[in-house]
Amino acid sequence: MAAGILSAPGTEYGPCEDVDCGHTDCAATRAQAASLCRYCDKPIGYETRFYNEDEGCVHALCAEVAEEERFAAACAEAEAAKG
Ligand SMILES: [Zn+2]
Ligand SMILES: [Zn+2]
Repeated sequence: MAAGILSAPGTEYGPCEDVDCGHTDCAATRAQAASLCRYCDKPIGYETRFYNEDEGCVHALCAEVAEEERFAAACAEAEAAKG
């Protein structure tokens, strides 16, 4: 899955700096930036890689760290199973 990035407000591809601009697209971008990462409970924010998963948005970094932890745990389990 490709990670997305929200452009900062006022930049070429970002929403308007005026939070009351009334544009549907801007509102959607702001809502996505304000949505909380499932891993760290912090807003997705702008200029940060994130994944839009079925369960909600997560920071790409948080998802990668969680994935590494799962992998490390699986490795430790496999090692333990070997005795
Ligand atoms: Zn706008
Ligand atoms: Zn996060």
